Amino acid sequence: MASAPAMNDSPAIEFVNVQYRTAENRVLLSDLNLTVRRGEILMLLGPSGSGKTTSLRLINCLLAPSAGRVSVDGRSTTDWDPIRLRRQIGYAIQEGGLFPHYTVWKNVALVPRLEGWEQQRIAIRVKDVLQMVGLPPAEFGDRYPDQLSGGQRQRVGLARALAADPPILLMDEPFGALDPLTRSELQKEFKQLQQRLGKTVVFVTHDVSEALLLGDRIALMASGSLRGVYSPREFLASNDVAVKPYLEAFRTVQQALQS
Ligand code: ADP
Ligand code: MG
Repeated sequence: MASAPAMNDSPAIEFVNVQYRTAENRVLLSDLNLTVRRGEILMLLGPSGSGKTTSLRLINCLLAPSAGRVSVDGRSTTDWDPIRLRRQIGYAIQEGGLFPHYTVWKNVALVPRLEGWEQQRIAIRVKDVLQMVGLPPAEFGDRYPDQLSGGQRQRVGLARALAADPPILLMDEPFGALDPLTRSELQKEFKQLQQRLGKTVVFVTHDVSEALLLGDRIALMASGSLRGVYSPREFLASNDVAVKPYLEAFRTVQQALQS
């Protein structure tokens, strides 16, 4: 069953004056204000250590803000029942984050099973979702993660995130460990899939090409702060000092290709 669209006009996800501090008082995020629109792919772009993963964890309330508010569907994450909140959210990470001792089938069935779906409904859904990510269930269902290529594992990770049909997807450098050709193939397919499914996606990357290719908008992070939010077109035209090094890196590749 598809999840019903939210009945309110609030943004899918909203950060308002968010700060996150560790128990040792280290500030990992400061004064973060960011709105994620329903149905968009919002890319969180920034170098390693800039606070991207911390931001994702605030969305599904694995972390709670030290100040400010993170809302999902207009309600603060700290007011949500965490189980119900996470039901709204699929999470995909690098290498798929699969259980090695579970078959592909069992990995994908995990969330529906936890949700107490009936066997038959689970079977139909697992088949559908494996097909959706390009893995014929008859061929791949019984394999274990170590019997798959990196790209196939990543497909299973995506299938698992989609299994319970959550309206929101959080993706933390999901294609980061793949070879360039496989990455490019998965990026294209993911973009098409998202256009069909209309999920709200927050996608973490440190790769400027990936951000430009996949993003409806790009939120640029550095040292725990948001430097700006840009459409890919705006990003390419930006004179911002924070954007510049990314464009230089991007153009170096383009120029090398043209010369
Ligand atoms: P990114 O995903 O952009 O690479 P993270 O959000 O994982 O960055 O981390 C931001 C910074 O916070 C990094 O410097 C990281 O080492 C640090 N960090 C992450 N989690 C903790 C924690 N629980 N305690 C202390 N420092 C942390
Ligand atoms: Mg990270």
